[in-house]
Amino acid sequence: MRLMFVCIEEAKELGRQVATGACPHCEGKVIAIDIESKWKFCCLPISYVDKRKYFCTLCSRRLVLYDHYQPWCD
Ligand SMILES: [Zn+2]
Repeated sequence: MRLMFVCIEEAKELGRQVATGACPHCEGKVIAIDIESKWKFCCLPISYVDKRKYFCTLCSRRLVLYDHYQPWCD
């Protein structure tokens, strides 16, 4: 008998807001997006992860918040 394991990640956007700081590449505005991730294993939810991701609104680069006021690129 062969068992099949399926892991599914469901990501849900919880909200977005303008973050402090500017993009180091184009000085554009930085937006913070809160994402809730659910990992499912055979229909059983196994973890919930809340992430905050940062993106530049001008050049769309993914940014990492290095400290509270200075976002930097990956
Ligand atoms: Zn930018």
